[in-house]
Amino acid sequence: MGYAKPSARIFIAGDLGPGLAVTPERAQGHYLTHVMRLAEGDAVALFNGRDGEWRAVIAGGGRHAVTLACETQTRPQRAEPDVWLAFAPLKKTPTDFLIEKTTELGVSRLIPVFTRHTATERVKVERLRAHAIEAAEQCERLSVPEVAEPVTLERLLAEWPAGRTLLVLDETGGGAPIAAALAENATTPPCHGILIGPEGGFSFNELDALRKLAFVTPVGVGPRILRAETAALAALSCWQALVGDWR
Ligand code: SAH
Repeated sequence: MGYAKPSARIFIAGDLGPGLAVTPERAQGHYLTHVMRLAEGDAVALFNGRDGEWRAVIAGGGRHAVTLACETQTRPQRAEPDVWLAFAPLKKTPTDFLIEKTTELGVSRLIPVFTRHTATERVKVERLRAHAIEAAEQCERLSVPEVAEPVTLERLLAEWPAGRTLLVLDETGGGAPIAAALAENATTPPCHGILIGPEGGFSFNELDALRKLAFVTPVGVGPRILRAETAALAALSCWQALVGDWR
C-alpha cells in the first residue's frame, strides 16, 4: 500500500520511532495547522538527523499544541558527506542566502569566522540555525548542518582538527584550480573544510599565514572575482561533484 507524500516536512529535536508521540514546537504546530491547514489524521514527514525520516500523522491538537504520532520509517538515516564551510559573515541578506544554499548543497557544518577585513561584527547564530533547519526541511535532507559559534580566524586554525584538509579560496590566483586540488586530495571518505574570505578579501598576512599551514590547500575558482556567497556555492558544488555525494 503506498501513501501520498506528506505535504509538510519538519525537523524534530527528540527521538523518532514506531508509535512514539511527538510534540513539535509551537511555531511548527502553527505552521502545520494554520499555514498548511492540516487536520487530525493528515500525514507529516519528520526527521531528526539520527533516526531517518518518518511518516507521522496528526493525532490531535488543541489551540496551542499539536501532537503527532510516528508511524513508519520512510527513509533510513544515512551520513551526509563530511564537508565544513568556514565563512566570514556578510550582511544579513547574503548571509541568509549563504546558509540556505549551502544547506541545500549538503554542507555538514557552518562556521562563521572573523577575519581582518570582515565588515560584520555580530552574528545571530540562532537565526542562522533557524534558516539551516528551514532549508533542510525543504530540501529533504536527513540532517541539519551544525552552525558553530563564531570564531576568529586564528582560533579556527589553531583548533583545526588533525586529518582534515582545509581548502582556502584564494582570490589572488595563487592557488591551484579547485578541481586539480580535489583530485589530489580525494581521500576516501574525504573529510574537508572550505574557507571563504570576506568581501574585503583576506589580508596579505592572513594569506601568508594560511599558505604556511600543512593542512591548507589554496585553491582558485576561476579568473573572475566572485562575491563571497557565490564563491561558497561554487566551491561546494565542485566538492560535491568531484569527491562528494553527487557522484
Ligand atoms: N575584495 C577582494 C575580493 C574578495 S571576494 C578583491 O577585490 O580581491 C570574497 C572571497 O571570495 C575571497 O576572499 C575568496 O575567498 C573568494 N573568491 C572570490 N573569487 C575567487 C576566485 N576567483 N578564486 C578563489 N577564491 C575566490
